[in-house]
Amino acid sequence: MLNIVLFGPPGAGKGTQSENIINKYALVHLSTGDLFRMHLDEGTELGKMAQGFMDQGKLVPDHVVISMVEDKIKEHLDARGFIFDGFPRTVNQAEALDKMLTNHNLAISGMVALQVPEAELRKRLLLRGQTSGRADDQNEEKISTRIKVYEDETSPVADYYQSQGKFNAIEGVGSIDAISEQISAVIDSF
Ligand code: ADP
Repeated sequence: MLNIVLFGPPGAGKGTQSENIINKYALVHLSTGDLFRMHLDEGTELGKMAQGFMDQGKLVPDHVVISMVEDKIKEHLDARGFIFDGFPRTVNQAEALDKMLTNHNLAISGMVALQVPEAELRKRLLLRGQTSGRADDQNEEKISTRIKVYEDETSPVADYYQSQGKFNAIEGVGSIDAISEQISAVIDSF
């Protein structure tokens, strides 16, 4: 299986790039943000629980995210692979993911990290807030919280994969297609 962690701060373009990658490599797109928004729309207990954290720009507790991801992996054990988007977001989640995959004789093939300057991220998120209606993109304070949470809790995940020799960085500024091509080149090297 080809199992890719697509990594980067909020607004880096993970969702956009995931679309291109799943089409090209026929992978299952596992976006924890999308899964939570789906639960929210459907009004499930999980959605209600996650909403408060998401609205504040904070992380949903690890155990909740991890069990949701585990269910999804089990549903798709026959897939060609997964693209993990927005997960793992803490080192604890990264360790749990490795354990889950090992239990199924699987492993992460590599991480692709999209790098985008903070000013550009803020601009993109505010723009997305205007067009998508996503509550967590609509005010500067919430955006600041998410960027801070990324720096404090999520960026160490890059070091985790670096120490396994699986870290690959890509410049996430430029045309969508040009970035997709660079991502493909990295994936083809896995
Ligand atoms: P973005 O990448 O733009 O921040 P996402 O759609 O990935 O947006 O996530 C939106 C929100 O969902 C996060 O701010 C967080 O509250 C919650 N969330 C998503 N993935 C995770 C995760 N792996 N761990 C904890 N919380 C998560």
